[in-house]
Amino acid sequence: MWTFGIPTVSSGPQFIVPDHLIQPAYRTLLAAGFPPCQEGGNCLQLRGNRSSPRPEEHFHLYPELVDDVHTDILGLYKKSNLLWTLPDLELKLPAADDPNFMLASDERLPKTPDGGSGPWPSFLHPVRILTPTRFLETQILLHCRDYLHANCYSAHWNANLTYIAEYVKPHNLIKEEDLDPRFLPFWRTMVDLNNLPPQSFKEELSKVRQKLIEDNELPPPAPVYNVEPDVAQKLGPYVT
Ligand SMILES: [Zn+2]
Repeated sequence: MWTFGIPTVSSGPQFIVPDHLIQPAYRTLLAAGFPPCQEGGNCLQLRGNRSSPRPEEHFHLYPELVDDVHTDILGLYKKSNLLWTLPDLELKLPAADDPNFMLASDERLPKTPDGGSGPWPSFLHPVRILTPTRFLETQILLHCRDYLHANCYSAHWNANLTYIAEYVKPHNLIKEEDLDPRFLPFWRTMVDLNNLPPQSFKEELSKVRQKLIEDNELPPPAPVYNVEPDVAQKLGPYVT
């Protein structure tokens, strides 16, 4: 989100990796000298009550700041948990008209005074990111997947959607022609929310969610980790 001009608090670099490459990626970073987690089960990254999914593997970039969860984490996430609708991730650079991916150095990204990084310097290693439109789409999908679930992640996806409407939309970075047409009414409701009844947001989200369920395109919600035993009993298969 930072590259899109959203003045968000970064929690450090977060990489989405093909599922089968999570462990090779972890070992590669380990061999390169990145400091692994030394906190075990006490690490805040692994405890319950997280507001967003926890990484499969992570590093503490600045171990002396281990209690500062906002600034020092390099996380690796499985693609299937976050980007299940997208094609396989590839090493080749995205084409200029790729609807899914672009580079963090892409000059189309906004150089905004509001915050965010804008385009990264082109001399850095090329980092692939989602296009703003596809990022919007994934946040809608994740919100629908986790909506009101005990994992409590829907508030996180909701916040991201609000940021997109506030900071990304004004830069014309959302291409409606590239957005899944089933999501268009919801998106248009989001950006016009100030002129609509407050319940419009939930109503449109419910319609999208129902349609995804009918089309059998919504996976089970993300699991809940490390909850109290009595709550775990009620949540059954969603608890890990
Ligand atoms: Zn840790």
